Amino acid sequence: MRSSLRVAKIFGIDIYVHWSLFIILVFLSGYFYVSSKPFGFADLSEIERVFFSFFASLFVFFAVLLHELAHSLVAMKYGVVVRGIMLFIFGGVAMMEEIPKNPRQELSISLAGPAASFLIAFISFLLSNATSGGVSTFFLISAYFNTVVAIFNLIPAFPMDGGRVLRSFLARRMSYVSATRISANVGKAIAVIMGIFGFFFNIWLLLIALFVYLGATEEEKIVTMENILSRFKVGDIMTPNVLYVTPDMTVGEIIDLMFKHKHLGYPVVENGRLVGIVTLNDIMNVERSRRVSEVMSRNVLTITPRQSAFEAFKIMSEKNIGRLPVVEDDKLVGIITRSDLMRLKEILEIIEVSEWKRSS
Ligand SMILES: [Zn+2]
Repeated sequence: MRSSLRVAKIFGIDIYVHWSLFIILVFLSGYFYVSSKPFGFADLSEIERVFFSFFASLFVFFAVLLHELAHSLVAMKYGVVVRGIMLFIFGGVAMMEEIPKNPRQELSISLAGPAASFLIAFISFLLSNATSGGVSTFFLISAYFNTVVAIFNLIPAFPMDGGRVLRSFLARRMSYVSATRISANVGKAIAVIMGIFGFFFNIWLLLIALFVYLGATEEEKIVTMENILSRFKVGDIMTPNVLYVTPDMTVGEIIDLMFKHKHLGYPVVENGRLVGIVTLNDIMNVERSRRVSEVMSRNVLTITPRQSAFEAFKIMSEKNIGRLPVVEDDKLVGIITRSDLMRLKEILEIIEVSEWKRSS
């Protein structure tokens, strides 16, 4: 997460701020500065104007943070690991390790965010009525903004919270995968309508539509992968008898191996034990005479043959790596690559479609 900055830790959750947030902070402050009541502070004295404009735009993201914290706290109650909350140009996202497939739990996690936003809106509305001047306008903006956030998130489409609500309702009547597919398609349809509307009236809406479309596609992809890959164990699809290298081999020898076998990465084994991995990236621009032990990566992520293929997929996607050595009792027994998983997915999709055609 190089493009973002860790700014705080709340309830054990790391809070990250993405650089794109600063664009919107500047934009919002400017907007509040030039607008008059009830959506800005143009009618105040110069110093108040600057102070409230900045503070109100900052508070917008604080409210988004509270929304995401509400999701996270309920999720943690169900034992979900929350890796962090990221605030960025379109709002916030809580990065959760695995959202429960129990429809009721998913429902309460999803509704917690909009509920928090509605609560902040309600309190802000009361405070706005109880105060006057800039403070009153500040709370009115908060009331308005948080109501919009709550309602927008209840749109029944991925990746909004409402998409999860829809899925948890559908999942009571059908499989989780079908429920996801329907919610994702609703999401895409809404994104297209939003995009067309945005194209003519509001460029901002067009950007949000794009974000919604990509989010819906992504969610569908992950669930499809999970459905297919969790049926297999790593041991069933790995390449056994994997070609390995030793730490005392030279970079030149590795390059020759790559030309010969066309694999771009090799496990490094010493006395039967896996000690590292060497990939094309490690040996690029390195002299041919250097040893493998000098250039290999030592902290190798591994997987066991008994883990599911989906777990392998998740590790590779999260860490952005192309291959995982398969290890059992400290011994290298095989290797599994991202392209193995993709090929498996393609084959199964074709087989399933043809079986479906035959049976219909
Ligand atoms: Zn939410």
